[in-house]
Amino acid sequence: MMRATSIGADGRLGPLVAGLLVCGSVASTPAAAAERIHRYDVTVDAEIRSMRVKACFAGLPPAVLVAESLDAPAAFVEGKAVMERRQPIQPNGTEMRLRDIAEDGCIEYSVNLAGGYTKNDLSGNTTKRVGRDLFTEVGLWFWRPAQLAAGEDIEVTFFMPEGLSVSAPWRPVEGAAPRPTYRIGRAEFDRPAAVAFGRFKEIPVEVPGAVLRLAILDGAPPADIEAMRAWIQDAAMSVAGVHGRFPVPSPQILVMPGARAQEPTPWAYVLRGGQAAAHFFVNQRRPLRDYIEDWTAPHELSHLLLPYVTSHDAWLSEGMATYYQNVIRARSGAISPADAWQRMHAGFKRGRDSAAKGTTLEQATVRMFRDGGYMRVYWSGAAILMLADVELRRRSDNRQSLDTVLAQFADCCLDPDPEWTARQVFEKFDELSGAEVFRTLYDAHVQSTAFPDLTSVYAAIGLEALGGKVEMKAEAPRVDIRDAIMARGAYVTPAALLK
Ligand SMILES: [Zn+2]
Repeated sequence: MMRATSIGADGRLGPLVAGLLVCGSVASTPAAAAERIHRYDVTVDAEIRSMRVKACFAGLPPAVLVAESLDAPAAFVEGKAVMERRQPIQPNGTEMRLRDIAEDGCIEYSVNLAGGYTKNDLSGNTTKRVGRDLFTEVGLWFWRPAQLAAGEDIEVTFFMPEGLSVSAPWRPVEGAAPRPTYRIGRAEFDRPAAVAFGRFKEIPVEVPGAVLRLAILDGAPPADIEAMRAWIQDAAMSVAGVHGRFPVPSPQILVMPGARAQEPTPWAYVLRGGQAAAHFFVNQRRPLRDYIEDWTAPHELSHLLLPYVTSHDAWLSEGMATYYQNVIRARSGAISPADAWQRMHAGFKRGRDSAAKGTTLEQATVRMFRDGGYMRVYWSGAAILMLADVELRRRSDNRQSLDTVLAQFADCCLDPDPEWTARQVFEKFDELSGAEVFRTLYDAHVQSTAFPDLTSVYAAIGLEALGGKVEMKAEAPRVDIRDAIMARGAYVTPAALLK
């Protein structure tokens, strides 16, 4: 996958993976309903330097297997059909033709995980050692049919050496213990996903509506497992508070120590090649309080409130995460409402100041990875969603809001996870809320060369801009809306975490 380095929503440098823009999806078919299950047995060696894969196909084998990463052919060591004539199989680029393999036939192949072939991956992260553990993109080794038909699925079982675990982004098959087994579902094959192998123990983090599967990889010094768990749980609880439940049932959460930065999490992103997953590269030396105050985890996990939105419309996915990263921290008490408004005001200013003359939001989004106009895109999206939130609340006396629309959307439209355009999402939001709010905003701002004008909404809810500062006025027509947006929610960050 092509990756790019980006500026985070608060203006600091950090790589951004196209994954959250090229995001992926998830099993739509319950395990029991699938009829044709191909079985992949994956065996990893004790040093995590190579793997063997045995793939047995249900029925007629696919004519072609594909791998997502351009580095997959270089990592491929050897392969053969498992039959009397064990003819070799070999990739040609990212395709591998299967010939003369019998019905229900199997193939075997081995893959080098030791690296050294990352020339096609600009981030160098196709496969990466994290301490003694290994992070590797699925696309490097997972040769699979490009498409799965309805009722067709792949079940992947990992055979791990004693003491080693796997973290995978797919749906765990219940009752498959002792071997970790997953159904991959019908996600597009080319959406990035990754697995980790190592000496970690996957930690279930229970929040309303979901059990996050947290794996904390090796580090020197090792990360504080309990602090990392508390941090992820706090962020996930804050996101679950948006409408009562966490939006993805069992996401993979990877925490990878060893990042060199002042910030606790200089780099993080969401991938959608399995269930939606979030990966955090952390400086494990920072104290827990720094993590709790940091916006990164609330931002990344807020991405999961939306399905995969096409990268040309990243203003919507980034806008949603950027809006909620402050709102949910105010609601949990991790920061004060005044602090949240100040951070948003500063963000809007950065977005406005960085808007290139004559460039529409749509153009700025398409060019974002090349031109680096992240602030305009992220904060324009956040501004549009704030305008929508305030308008829904104004019309309904706070009974409707962006939260309630997302609750309805989660019920109808998050699973499976196909690709949406921003226009489709906004049309659905209007349909669900019964109001023409989102389409109107779309028409007003997406083709506009100006940053969304917040003057009248500031006046209405009692925010007064004084240069770079914003003040919360005691009197304004709809102070109630301002206060409702940031009002303390059902989940409150424990005071012990803020010490
Ligand atoms: Zn983001």
